[in-house]
Amino acid sequence: TSSPRHAILDGLNNAQRRAVTSDAPTLAILAGPGSGKTHTLTARVVWLIDHDGLRPEDVLVATFTVKAAREMKERIARTLADGREKKLILGTFHSIARRYLAAYGRHIGLSQTFGIADDADSRAIITRICKRLQTGLDPAFARNWISKKKSKGADTSRAQRGGGAGDRSLQELETCYREYQKHLETLNLLDYDDLLVRCVELLRKFPACVSNIRAVLVDEYQDTNAIQYELMTLFAQRRRRITIVGDPDQSIYGWRSADIRNLERLLQDYPGTDCVALEQNYRSSKSILAMSLEVIKQDEKRYKKSLKPVHTKGCRPVLRRLKNPSTEAEWIVAEIRRILLMSGSMLTHNDVAILLRSASLSRHIENALGRAGITYRMVGGFKFYERAEIKTIIDYLRVIHQPENNDALARIINTPRRGIGDTTVRNLLEEAETALLSVWAVLTKHCQGLRTAKTKITKQAEQKISGGLLRPLNDIRKKIGQASGPDAAPYGLVQMIEQLLTTLNFQKHLEDTHPNDHEQRWANVQEFVGLAADFVRDMEQSPDDDALPEIEGLTQTKEADVLQRFLANVSLAADAQTGGDEQQSKALVTISTIHAAKGLEWPVVFIPAVYAGSIPHARSEDDDEERRLLYVAMTRAQSLLYLSYPVSGSNGERTQVSPFVDPIQRWFHEKGPCLDRPVMVEVAEILRRTLPPDETIFKGLPDMFSPEDNLFPINPDEAQEADGESRWREDRPSVKRPRLQGPSSTGQIH
Ligand code: ATP
Ligand code: MG
Repeated sequence: TSSPRHAILDGLNNAQRRAVTSDAPTLAILAGPGSGKTHTLTARVVWLIDHDGLRPEDVLVATFTVKAAREMKERIARTLADGREKKLILGTFHSIARRYLAAYGRHIGLSQTFGIADDADSRAIITRICKRLQTGLDPAFARNWISKKKSKGADTSRAQRGGGAGDRSLQELETCYREYQKHLETLNLLDYDDLLVRCVELLRKFPACVSNIRAVLVDEYQDTNAIQYELMTLFAQRRRRITIVGDPDQSIYGWRSADIRNLERLLQDYPGTDCVALEQNYRSSKSILAMSLEVIKQDEKRYKKSLKPVHTKGCRPVLRRLKNPSTEAEWIVAEIRRILLMSGSMLTHNDVAILLRSASLSRHIENALGRAGITYRMVGGFKFYERAEIKTIIDYLRVIHQPENNDALARIINTPRRGIGDTTVRNLLEEAETALLSVWAVLTKHCQGLRTAKTKITKQAEQKISGGLLRPLNDIRKKIGQASGPDAAPYGLVQMIEQLLTTLNFQKHLEDTHPNDHEQRWANVQEFVGLAADFVRDMEQSPDDDALPEIEGLTQTKEADVLQRFLANVSLAADAQTGGDEQQSKALVTISTIHAAKGLEWPVVFIPAVYAGSIPHARSEDDDEERRLLYVAMTRAQSLLYLSYPVSGSNGERTQVSPFVDPIQRWFHEKGPCLDRPVMVEVAEILRRTLPPDETIFKGLPDMFSPEDNLFPINPDEAQEADGESRWREDRPSVKRPRLQGPSSTGQIH
């Protein structure tokens, strides 16, 4: 029989092709980084639609990050080229769950206007509850415990042991959990975990919701948790057609209950699963790959896989020791400038990423980039949506959408200042809680003159709230109400935000409260308005993007409310780990947490702060997971990889290089590569698939011969026999040669 032909198969290797065209009901693609797992999964989606004739609306694809979902959609759009990809059910588990709950939630008693409590909200709520219960529980611990409890179903024994919580604190945790849940229910909010839990409930009770689904595909499977596994099987319950891709070596979300045992579980639950291994790495240069494998290899328990580089050359990665975090940042910035300069027009800011173990490390880097006038974007854990000025506006929108959201209301009641003190707010919350009403309802009653014996709030405060808050917000809500009739002109989201900013005199408020940086803050606000405008435009262009396919005999709630959808979008993008919907069009250096960089790649990658205590992180209990984290970070790099650490850490403490790179230190470049023409030619070769085959990219590059110490000293014969476990020849003493522009040891550009 002749093998099937289809344009989507062009350029794929045999294993990838086999995976794309597999007829098996369950397919598992398990392979190392850069081997084309996501590439293959994307091709398979096209194959299922174009070759097997599945309707796009019957195909469900779960990605791990918002960004990955967008990228996959764009690629599918380019291949299908007819707009059918819009109907795919594609997104993170959370966003897909949200769509199902918005459409069918009322069947399980969910109010249609539910809002989403993001990480920051949950944190705040739990902190308050802990304080109120006077338990002495650590709110962060309690929050983690609750989240684990939700995402694992009933099994919290591990959390209990792990946290060393005794019987008493276990009881307290349970109380805290109950209170928290009650609070969310009163405010009609779901937190991230609830989205998944309630969706499981929905699909169990009403399997018809997903009766159309004919294929379920999951990327980054190694980081799914128990509840996501359940969701996956529920989505696929009618027809067992599941494709998962993953890499156990890259499982880095154990701390968020991701469960690597999901893999064994799949193989058990779905006997006869077709397993495909991909063994060629298309992403990284040979030396970057070899060095990364050297790191992950230290984990003796791991299941060994073969991974060979497609690119046979490459410049050795750099390990650099610097004085302190700020000289480290200076050095990184100087290197970035040097690389961009040397590359001519081949590389731009977009090609450079700085990956951090924790968001708190970004300060020095941001300062140094700022001083050098290099613009950057921040991804993952950096909280655009948590900036005070943005959060305030979001809170206003939330109260407009759900007046019963006491938390949001309490935060904005005196912002901008209305002379309302904490006591008043506390009294209000108390009164509301005893009367089992929302603060909004209490306020409304007061303003209508209905005071009771319990009313503690002064007449004066009442007037301020009534005139400064209730009336303007009611005005806006009225406009929305008027605009929602069938023929009414829609009251735009952007208009609403702008009216809000004017009514609140928000710019003035920023000037008063933040004399030093009000301009930056106002610029942030403007950017937020821009995001809202983008959102509305996207929605107008394809209004049904979020709609699920019609199922006979099952009524679906159509989501007409722009505000609700916008707020949901904001909450999901605010997820510190997986969020980020920044605009891609500008050429900016990326600063990202390693967690949020999963699945992505850049030609040039910097990993600062590679010292013990940072990675492995002092607070982490799982060294293997920390090692995998470094492995994930290193394998994001295509051509140039830089690791560095300061000799004295951010608190002035002496540091030691991370134990993960310690044993292989001497294989790294110490100073940095000489970025001469041969090296740049190699960089170009690796990037060729993304660049037009245009010789002129080398124009302006200096003509230099190759200093050999630039190249990774590996014996080609050894590389052939080695199955991803390549060995190095002893490093030769490097020959002194003229350097065109050697690495700057002072952090300055010559
Ligand atoms: P990760 O584990 O980091 O998520 P991955 O296995 O998903 O990695 P991809 O991101 O799919 O790997 O692919 C890595 C790079 O290799 C991408 O730039 C992709 O376009 C490229 N690539 C994959 N397969 C091929 C191929 N057959 N030919 C050329 N390039 C390929
Ligand atoms: Mg991938």
